[in-house]
Amino acid sequence: METANPTFVTTFGEERVRTGVALVDLMPDLAEQGLIALLDQVYRTGEPRTSSDVQVVVDAGAQAREAFFDFTFEPYRDAEGHVTGVRMIGVETTQVKHAQRLMAEHRALLEQIARQAPLTEVLDGMARCIENLAPQEILVSVLLADPDGLHLRHGAAPSLPDFYNQAIDGIATGEGVGSCGTAAHRRQPVIVTDITTDPLWTDFKNLATRADLAACWSTPILARDGGLLGTFAMYHRTPRIPQDTDLALTRLFAGTAALAIERHHSEQAQRTAEALARSAHDDLARAVRAEQELRAAAERRATAAAELTTQLRAAAAAQATLPHPEQCQLGGGSSCAEPAEIKIADSWGDAAWGCPDHVEEALINVRSVFIASEEFGGLAAYVHR
Ligand SMILES: [Zn+2]
Repeated sequence: METANPTFVTTFGEERVRTGVALVDLMPDLAEQGLIALLDQVYRTGEPRTSSDVQVVVDAGAQAREAFFDFTFEPYRDAEGHVTGVRMIGVETTQVKHAQRLMAEHRALLEQIARQAPLTEVLDGMARCIENLAPQEILVSVLLADPDGLHLRHGAAPSLPDFYNQAIDGIATGEGVGSCGTAAHRRQPVIVTDITTDPLWTDFKNLATRADLAACWSTPILARDGGLLGTFAMYHRTPRIPQDTDLALTRLFAGTAALAIERHHSEQAQRTAEALARSAHDDLARAVRAEQELRAAAERRATAAAELTTQLRAAAAAQATLPHPEQCQLGGGSSCAEPAEIKIADSWGDAAWGCPDHVEEALINVRSVFIASEEFGGLAAYVHR
């Protein structure tokens, strides 16, 4: 490398930009992506070349970060037109690329919500997406508020240790209950940049230390009507103050979480209503069926009774001219004062005259009884005893 402009030096770090050293030694990541070969090609052919979205680690040590560049390589010629070098122009596209990835991930989340994926799946996906996109290590946690808004339940926190999630599950909302309990209580974001010194974390400091957590920024997730749905928190391994971009990211994802949770609630309400409607419908169907059966049975009975009445009337008419007792002989112990009209008999050969009511009663209740035949002698003639 012969020379570099100040921006190049500040971007890549002085350690990585030294003149008099071969570029391949300074930036081995360029060689891995075929950039040094491309550079050699430009030098040999004299044709300019470009390469987009080249991944480079810029800065060094604690400040090291992954960055993206569009590179243009132009030949450098002397007075006779011979190629004597290659000019490398890099335009950093990290921000653009980052924003594109963020928007793509966010769109995927919205699609997931729209096709009614389970809430835990959506929140887990969201947490992982933010963790993957953040340039520094962050750990995302989503807690869900109970319907009364007084307690917070575990929602999603794929990178926090299980013992931590279990300890936090069910915490009360209130002043001094860490960042999340307090944010839920205040309905305002709570930014704790150093857990070890912040009074809001007094009761949870040891727990956080065990989980290697140093900072926690929490934002309440609010419904459109202002109701508390939960909290969205970003944890950090070292004490940190949020940048504007962090706050923008938080607002975006707290809003997305609100959408997912509200959607989930309305689906649950709908499912409950449907189950109720279904069971009410089943009850109604059962009642209707029972009523239909009762009516059918009643109709059968009414038909049978009508037939019997017709039979009795015919028998009474046929038997009217025969000699018969004045009064009904039926009715058991208490004698019946009604006039005798119809003669009945049983299969044992016994016969008696009765009023229509008692005859009907006997015909219905005593299996062997029938209206006496034309001979009016019952079955006596046929029975051998
Ligand atoms: Zn009678």
